[in-house]
Amino acid sequence: MDKGANVILCSHFGRPKGEVIETGKNGRLTPVVKPLEALLGTSIIKVDDCVGPDVEAAAAKLTKGEVLLLDNTRFHKGETKNDPELSAGLGKLANYFVMDAFGTAHRAHSSTAGVTEHMEYSAAGYLMEKELKYLIGAVEEPKRPMMAIVGGAKVSTKIPVIESLLEKCDVILLGGGMIFTFYKAKGLGIGASLVEEDMTELAKQLMEKAEAKGVKLLLPEDVVLADKFDNDANTAVAPVEEIHGEWMGLDIGPKTIETFTNEISKAKTIIFNGPMGVFEMSNFADGTFAVAKAMAEATANGATTIVGGGDAVAAVNQFGFGDKVSHISTGGGASLELLEGKELPGVAALTEV
Ligand code: AMP
Repeated sequence: MDKGANVILCSHFGRPKGEVIETGKNGRLTPVVKPLEALLGTSIIKVDDCVGPDVEAAAAKLTKGEVLLLDNTRFHKGETKNDPELSAGLGKLANYFVMDAFGTAHRAHSSTAGVTEHMEYSAAGYLMEKELKYLIGAVEEPKRPMMAIVGGAKVSTKIPVIESLLEKCDVILLGGGMIFTFYKAKGLGIGASLVEEDMTELAKQLMEKAEAKGVKLLLPEDVVLADKFDNDANTAVAPVEEIHGEWMGLDIGPKTIETFTNEISKAKTIIFNGPMGVFEMSNFADGTFAVAKAMAEATANGATTIVGGGDAVAAVNQFGFGDKVSHISTGGGASLELLEGKELPGVAALTEV
């Protein structure tokens, strides 16, 4: 805008699945008009579609520095299929494309990848640049010791990340519901805790791999147990060797918090993905809070700290440490795929310079 370009803004919103939905979380982009105008300090023009003759006419009429907002790209079935016709329709509107949707860059969609085939140049936006700088920088040229803190409910979604982090990290701390699959693999009792039985073999292999590579893979030594999945449950703290019956582990215990906090204070690059416990319930939030706080302290002492993945980001923000870490990634899936070393289609499609 400052340089006199006509700017066309394009985004998806929710999951309307190829239908036009008038309002709500999968609806039109109309609710963003006013906030956008306030942020940009100028009025913007909004159209009711993202392609077609009316949109083309509106784009052609723009004069220097004007802003046009297209409507929800996912009103078209072709968007998530990277449909060539939809991509060409979007491509007709502009000469240059700036990709700033890091959170969808791991998907080859019309508005993230296909559209670039119809542009003279496609560049990364400022948000994209920052995400790539931190996430690629962290894994390619980390300040050492490098640490990953991985938690969350499901081992199955985290295995590829842990595997690739094993190649890069000096220390890995594990927490969350997925630790019980590791304990099961070690032959320990887990009571009624979350477990993915079919993942025990892979968990075992990961532990062996860590040992062979000399990576310090730390599992919690104690846990907070509950007699039901409820904030009002009866609770107890127990060493991991003593989980029985109907008790389920819902957070890491105080000894583990001490060990993890101490490890975090020694690391120089830290990636945090996935909460340490059921942080949405206040009685099982201490572990995640302690890790987020230790990350903030490490940042103040010069470490590069990165938080990725929806739940870890929500937790760090909820506890008020959002502005006390180096980088909060806006992309859950995209950040994991980058950390796994994968190429993101929305990045690969940009013009090489
Ligand atoms: P994920 O999507 O796999 O990263 O998992 C995030 C979810 O894991 C959060 O909603 C947490 O409440 C949940 N979680 C963390 N620790 C546990 C646990 N010990 N048992 C059950 N769920 C957990």
